[in-house]
Amino acid sequence: MHVHAEDILSTHHIQATAMRLLVMSAIIDNDGPVSLNELETALETVDKSTISRALNLFSAKGALREINDGNGSRRYCICKDAEGHSSGSHVHFTCIKCHKTVCIESVQVPSIELPEGYKISEQSYLIKGICPDCE
Ligand SMILES: [Zn+2]
Ligand SMILES: [Zn+2]
Repeated sequence: MHVHAEDILSTHHIQATAMRLLVMSAIIDNDGPVSLNELETALETVDKSTISRALNLFSAKGALREINDGNGSRRYCICKDAEGHSSGSHVHFTCIKCHKTVCIESVQVPSIELPEGYKISEQSYLIKGICPDCE
């Protein structure tokens, strides 16, 4: 199912400026979690600080999920379930051979119980292993 940049921005109450739509569309077009560097390459005509400001806003509003791919770079993905709705955290997988990180949206991060007094603001679940392409 294809998602539209306008829909994601309006779902998350983000004012749709031309630049924000451009950045969000580039994230949608990218297959899987995208890094800032990859976005800068894809949007070479756009000012870098504009891209990072948009990313910060999107993740603050919950439209993007920030993940650390385990190789030291930060990646962003749109969190949606099968119907295209924004959903809870899904699992990510990083291949130790080709270093690709993918969203595994069919697998939700299990909810965990923390001892009293601990509040979760963010949780991510990254699995490392060998992907089907490298097997
Ligand atoms: Zn691989
Ligand atoms: Zn993801």
